[in-house]
Amino acid sequence: MKLLLLALVILIPLTGGAQPAAWMKPFPPHKIAGNLYYVGSEDLASYLITTPEGHLLINSSFEESVPLIRASIEKLGFKFSDVKILLISHAHSDHCAGSAEILKQTQAKYFVMEEDADAIESGGGRPSRLKADYTQFKPARVDHRLHDGEEVKLGGSTLTAHLTPGHTRGCTTWTMRVDGLNAVIIGSPNVNPGYVLEGNKDYPAIAEDYKRTFRFLKSQQPDLFLGAHGGYYDMVVKHARLATSAMNPFIDPEGYRRYVAEREQAFLTQLARQQAK
Ligand SMILES: [Zn+2]
Repeated sequence: MKLLLLALVILIPLTGGAQPAAWMKPFPPHKIAGNLYYVGSEDLASYLITTPEGHLLINSSFEESVPLIRASIEKLGFKFSDVKILLISHAHSDHCAGSAEILKQTQAKYFVMEEDADAIESGGGRPSRLKADYTQFKPARVDHRLHDGEEVKLGGSTLTAHLTPGHTRGCTTWTMRVDGLNAVIIGSPNVNPGYVLEGNKDYPAIAEDYKRTFRFLKSQQPDLFLGAHGGYYDMVVKHARLATSAMNPFIDPEGYRRYVAEREQAFLTQLARQQAK
């Protein structure tokens, strides 16, 4: 019995059963800078880039998140039906499971990094005890497959898709110039529980891909530090400073460098641990 209990305790975080409450908790939508807005929940980040020719939206999150994202966009005074292009951080359900519903409601086009596009169209990977269920989601049609460095342009705004693989094969970091500032929206630098970095038959290049991602992230010099989860950049704490701070609290180049360095160290530690086995 004791063993069974222990097994359950270990398995719960891996099956996605313990979803953080902040993922579904509504959060005030807000302007980050210029035409870039936050329209996500307290932790699942979605970004709206508004233009005179319609809007770009990054991250559909869960299916249950869609009404929340829609309400956030409308609260800012914009129309959900004006979303013309849908983008994502990577092919995990907490960033892409709502895509089919958003595409249905808005008729937007879906642009996905080539290396994640098959997963998006098939609904993700096979169920596995070692993989949390965030690898499975409702499939959605991909209208355009992106390549590393490709620019997505709409109504005078340009977003650049950077392939930052490892967390998923097509994990994407978005950059844009807004209001004279460089914004970086990190796809994910995280090694999830159960990830095999050494001798991974399904994804042999995973460790090399993470190294490539950290090289890229360290090469960037953002003013605006953003990411696929608000938690990456202490969104809640920074948002609280919006009303009182003279400086834009989302401008945090130092926080970005610290975060990337800390995540790289976590990856290297995990890699060394698996190599020592
Ligand atoms: Zn993920």
